Amino acid sequence: MLEKILIANRGEIALRILRACRELGIKTVAVHSEADRELKHVLLADESVCIGPAQSRDSYLHIPAIISAAEVTDAVAIHPGYGFLSENADFAERVENSGFIFIGPKPETIRLMGDKVSAIAAMQEAGVPCVPGSDGPLDDNKSRSLALGREIGYPVIIKAAGGGGGRGMRVVHSEATLLNAISLTRAEAAAAFGNDMVYMEKYLEHPRHIEFQVLADQQGNAIHLGERDCSMQRRHQKVVEEAPAPGITQAQREEIGERCVQACRNIGYRGAGTFEFLFENGCFYFIEMNTRIQVEHPVTEMVTGIDIVKEQILLAAGEKLRFRQEDIGLRGHAIECRINAEHAETFIPSPGQIREFHAPGGPGIRMETHIYRGYRVPSYYDSMIGKLIAHGENRPAAISRMCGALRETVIAGIDTNIGLQRQILLDAAFQAGGADIHYLEKKLGLWGGIEA
Ligand code: ADP
Repeated sequence: MLEKILIANRGEIALRILRACRELGIKTVAVHSEADRELKHVLLADESVCIGPAQSRDSYLHIPAIISAAEVTDAVAIHPGYGFLSENADFAERVENSGFIFIGPKPETIRLMGDKVSAIAAMQEAGVPCVPGSDGPLDDNKSRSLALGREIGYPVIIKAAGGGGGRGMRVVHSEATLLNAISLTRAEAAAAFGNDMVYMEKYLEHPRHIEFQVLADQQGNAIHLGERDCSMQRRHQKVVEEAPAPGITQAQREEIGERCVQACRNIGYRGAGTFEFLFENGCFYFIEMNTRIQVEHPVTEMVTGIDIVKEQILLAAGEKLRFRQEDIGLRGHAIECRINAEHAETFIPSPGQIREFHAPGGPGIRMETHIYRGYRVPSYYDSMIGKLIAHGENRPAAISRMCGALRETVIAGIDTNIGLQRQILLDAAFQAGGADIHYLEKKLGLWGGIEA
């Protein structure tokens, strides 16, 4: 077993990883910036190392500082969490070349999946359904692009192969603007990602976001843990997630899940990963793979009973998968609300000191957060300060528990989006299930001010 793990992250996910390590009897090293000395996991870790100033680029993104911290503390493995360096293939490579285990897939897998054109090609080979599109990069041949647009049918979307975080995409509604859109996206992609490769896809107008969780070992075994629905989004950021996805049949789950598992085998995937799909008119369309643990992993844990972070660590240590596909069952329904330190109406981040904090509780309630009374939320990082998860025997029961838990939660001293989350949970379309990815933004326009 791994003796000591360095946690190269902060906030709730760092605490989540620390807890998994403790259960496995693994010692922990917390690395933190100068602004994060008071983080809960830093106080709880066996050792901690300050790796630099508050700005992420000088600390959580500073590869040499993280590697040195692993060297001086004799850590054997590094867990990157999500965000920061978690999908940086160069980081994974540096970690491995320095003699540490990277808790994630091989660097070449991160690289393959980080390029959307090569990712789609790998998926097509495994029989994973993709969005109809150019099946490769667009070249400079204008008449070929125009013919392709006509063949796919408008609207289409031009996407950068190296894009990420919702950037490097442009929707085109008619042929008149296609060529201009291609050259604009190409120029932006070159500037933003250092890679001017772009491709074309059919633009789906009312899709839901449905993703599949997978686990794979280094002996060639892989399983899926079913799907999550993450359609409640604002500016491409997920706000509420749930498992299973409303209306998805066991047959659909098995079919798409099996294709994801096949893709894992094909690409030699290892560890935990997520296949993201758009879902429209009963069909799944692959858009990208996340090669790391995700924020919303707890909803899958609640319905499968599997601790994904623990399994991720065991798989990185070289252990064989402990479950077969037939061991995986889904029990009940789970919902997660992301809790952000932000103004209720403007969504402007709201850093500051937590004056009061009362966590919710009761059956089926789980709160993942690093905040505590007196903790000061710094202004340098993402505004998510925690996640509230509710599990129930079915979807209405989970919604009801979540509503109670949101009412019970008290966070004073900073603004939070708890009021918005309550409004979403009480919304008729959310309660019916199956809203598309544009629903929340449209609703926010109608709601205007959100009660605090
Ligand atoms: P990123 O890596 O930037 O997150 P994705 O490929 O995951 O890029 O796409 C981000 C979002 O853009 C999707 O969740 C969806 O809202 C929208 N999108 C991407 N491709 C399409 C498409 N073909 N049709 C409709 N919407 C799309």
